Amino acid sequence: MDGVNQSNFLVFRLFEWYNAEVAKVKRIIVANWKMNPSSVKEAGKLFSDVVKAIPSLKNTEVVICPPFLYLEQLRKISRKIILGAQDVSSEECGAFTGDVSAEMLFNMGAKYVITGHSERRARGEGNSDVNKKIKSALSVGLVPILCVGESARDESHGYFNLVKTQLEECLNGIQKASISNIIIAYEPVWAISSTVNRQDAIPADCREMVIFIRKIISDKIGVQTKMPKILYGGSVNDKDVEGFLKDGGVDGVLVGRASLDAEKFSNIIKVCEALNK
Ligand code: PEP
Repeated sequence: MDGVNQSNFLVFRLFEWYNAEVAKVKRIIVANWKMNPSSVKEAGKLFSDVVKAIPSLKNTEVVICPPFLYLEQLRKISRKIILGAQDVSSEECGAFTGDVSAEMLFNMGAKYVITGHSERRARGEGNSDVNKKIKSALSVGLVPILCVGESARDESHGYFNLVKTQLEECLNGIQKASISNIIIAYEPVWAISSTVNRQDAIPADCREMVIFIRKIISDKIGVQTKMPKILYGGSVNDKDVEGFLKDGGVDGVLVGRASLDAEKFSNIIKVCEALNK
């Protein structure tokens, strides 16, 4: 075997080993409701419908990230689903009109918070802002879900460097142990449902980037430190989720549009739960 084939073989074995390890731990399904639905009543109904439709879960953790102002109502409905937020202030407290602090979210019952989503990056948020938000979340015990992903794929594979820079700058100055507990969501912007002329990603697109992300992270935290969980997001639905979970090399998925349909979202959860049986 020549050097290149040998290293491909090793990467493949590492991937197989990792998939076997993933099967032993809980997968995670995260819903990003974005700026939906338009009333607390509808939010309560959507949440309750999902709670009723899913079985008791042994292998899957389900997180719903609604708009901030529904958190309080939703936490009263059920503990079967964990709550998260879609953004957090980089500041601790004080004169920051419109911001919601990490401590407020924590006190409102959120456990997770999405950071660096492409829809926020498109409105001017940079890697250094995301870095501050992650630090702010970690300081109160929230688990940041760091979104990374390229807007487009180029033939010279420059998109790998873009994701590398996002990871390095967003995780700058964060301790190894904390990086272990962060969740990374690979979300190629070209596959997200809100992108004009979006395209479907396939599990192989996801897998190659996930292998790359694991390499960047293991260079940063070392092989002895636990690897953070990695999710895939980009128009995941109840038909293609199995492929991403089985062949995409991920520990779960981040779901936008399909999470607004209780039946589709609960089917996604059921597929995930059945995989580990
Ligand atoms: C998202 O924007 O985080 C997302 C995954 O959205 P969708 O599933 O709608 O592409």
